[in-house]
Amino acid sequence: MEKVDVAQIKQMDRDYVLHSWAKQKSVHPKVIEKGEGIFFWDDEGKKYYDMCAQLVYLNVGHSHPKLMEEFKHIGEIPLASPGFATASKASLAKKIIDVAPSNMSKVFFASGGADSNDHAVKIARMVTGRYKIFSRYRSYHGATFGAGNLSGEGRRFTVEPGLPGFIKFDTPYMYREYIHFESQEAMSDYYLDRLNSQIMYEGPEQIAAIFMEPIPGSNGVLVPPKGYLEGVRKLCDNYGILMICDEVMSGFGRTGKMFAVDHFDFEPDMMTFAKGVTCGYSPLGGVIVSREIADYFDDHVLMTGLTYSGHTVSTQIGCVTMDIYNDEHLIEHSAAMGNILAARLEKLRRFDSVGDVRYIGLFAAVELVKDKKTKDPLIAYGMDYGKDKVGLMTKFIGMLSEYGFYTYSHESSVIIAPPLIITEEQINEAMNLFEDVLTHFEKTVLF
Ligand code: PLP
Repeated sequence: MEKVDVAQIKQMDRDYVLHSWAKQKSVHPKVIEKGEGIFFWDDEGKKYYDMCAQLVYLNVGHSHPKLMEEFKHIGEIPLASPGFATASKASLAKKIIDVAPSNMSKVFFASGGADSNDHAVKIARMVTGRYKIFSRYRSYHGATFGAGNLSGEGRRFTVEPGLPGFIKFDTPYMYREYIHFESQEAMSDYYLDRLNSQIMYEGPEQIAAIFMEPIPGSNGVLVPPKGYLEGVRKLCDNYGILMICDEVMSGFGRTGKMFAVDHFDFEPDMMTFAKGVTCGYSPLGGVIVSREIADYFDDHVLMTGLTYSGHTVSTQIGCVTMDIYNDEHLIEHSAAMGNILAARLEKLRRFDSVGDVRYIGLFAAVELVKDKKTKDPLIAYGMDYGKDKVGLMTKFIGMLSEYGFYTYSHESSVIIAPPLIITEEQINEAMNLFEDVLTHFEKTVLF
């Protein structure tokens, strides 16, 4: 494409582009001029630590040389619509099944996270003949109409009034529990009992699937209490309900294992993925299904499809991305660097504005509060979501950006999820910046 200078890009952006989740007048986007590893530079030459891997997808970092090289080979595999077999689609499906839980068998390719979740819902309804879908509060599954109905936080209000048959249940949130539990197991039992009652009240024979992010990401990296996910699996087995895990954000090494479910002792019936499968170098998502579900479609029509299902370019990029995870031992590296990040996060607890830190691998959140004793959150919940009326979190994220620490927040949680290639030295440098910002924020804004 022809060269366009920064001023022209910004002008055309203002004139012609609609930006998501924003009042257009308040959007003043910068232009990324260059990206390399965990860093990117804006149009004024300012350098940033990309501490959220863009939208938690750039696991292999910016401008990875093997992916830049692969782009030179785009076109060598002919473009083909979904009815054809291609080298890239077949190979990527195999690579994914090779690293998925042992009961997983086939992949349906979609274009991103939300439409993957939409397809998982459709597949669950086809296989079970039931229509109700359970999903959780404090979850994000995407912005399409179906995924929006699955989502359990403020962004779902954009699809209200919702579709019939989408039922919400609660997510255990250890930091903000009003009840005192003797142990994590006791907490799991409490939530499982409540879920069981809800299933009974909704009619188990009507429920097709229970849908969940095993570790909710955008909503603040809510690592579940011990035994909880395994308990949900048992409830699903008791009632013939399918268990679907959304690994769009948590998959492909983010948590220090290939998938978040690998930390626990259960296997879901379906898993959805996107982001890390190509690290955003090309859009791609999909649904991984168990042997049983795959077999069902041997003799039943899979009544769904997408023009770009298994798109040649995206699956070609996916194949190289999967090789990078393997060749560079990025999953193991994520676990090792997760320990370094964890130590730095624990040190943040000394700050008066830090209510909680949560982490697993390179998937972390820092929850900010106005008052540590009362746990008064920085931003009010519920319908006020996104309004941040006093602008406290907006100020905090702005300060981080000024210091060269790029990330985003949700409600009162700041997400920290850098590219998996980050080094110990870079974690320490970035977390020094984070501490400097916390000190400055507390002194000049909060207290
Ligand atoms: N599911 C989860 C867990 C996500 O975090 C996201 C996006 O952040 C999605 C689904 C939606 O993915 P997409 O934006 O690619 O549609």
